[in-house]
Amino acid sequence: GPAIRLRAVTKTYRNGVPALGPIDLAVGRGEFVSLLGPSGCGKSTALRLIAGLAEPSSGRIEMASQAQRGHSIGFVFQEPTLMPWTSVRGNVGLPLKLAHAPSAEIARRVDAALARVELSDFAEAYPRELSGGMKMRASLARALVTDPDILLMDEPFAALDEITRFRLNDDLLALWRELGKTVLFVTHSVFESVYLAQRVVVMSPRPGRIAADFRIDAPEPRN
Ligand code: ADP
Ligand code: ADP
Repeated sequence: GPAIRLRAVTKTYRNGVPALGPIDLAVGRGEFVSLLGPSGCGKSTALRLIAGLAEPSSGRIEMASQAQRGHSIGFVFQEPTLMPWTSVRGNVGLPLKLAHAPSAEIARRVDAALARVELSDFAEAYPRELSGGMKMRASLARALVTDPDILLMDEPFAALDEITRFRLNDDLLALWRELGKTVLFVTHSVFESVYLAQRVVVMSPRPGRIAADFRIDAPEPRN
């Protein structure tokens, strides 16, 4: 089955705003899907529901057996949510520490994750010492450190300058090709959605619905 399946999922917030749906969506294992649409069309809501950070008002969300909701999922937010009181190493290792992993394993996995995002030289730095792009790399390393099957990214590069953003796009693509994870990438950039993904799902607002869903035939092999 698919990595993620939404069946007639809706979300109406407590204030009565119908934010989403009904939405039907299946994301295959290892697929890189962009979720594209204007601000307020429900992209973040969809991602939060999939991550298990919020409950749908109706409908069902099914995940592949390996990835129970809330587990085996890495989440990267637009704002780097790094803890200011600990180093890059401490931040990236936090999910493992919370899961009571042995410290030797934490050290090994953190080193590997930092190497993947080219941040090894900044392991002992504090978040305030990092540029915006580096903070995002650290957030990505933290999302990858548990080796999740699914990576959910909510406009991760929106606040970065264009050059940093291009570099991160390329690095993310290289990571995806190497690691083969299922990626759901929320963006309101048409360029970014098409550049990154094999498949673009376009959403329309009030309430958020899927307006288009198309595959992109890449000119070069993507796997
Ligand atoms: P983005 O468009 O970048 O996803 P938003 O500004 O829509 O960000 O949302 C930022 C945060 O504010 C989210 O955590 C969201 O849940 C919350 N939020 C957005 N709109 C409302 C609203 N109308 N009422 C309460 N909270 C909201
Ligand atoms: P997007 O990520 O596409 O910008 P969101 O999922 O953040 O869209 O928001 C979809 C709709 O739901 C918007 O109308 C937003 O104001 C509303 N919304 C988002 N979060 C909340 C919340 N926590 N409480 C109430 N309304 C919200």
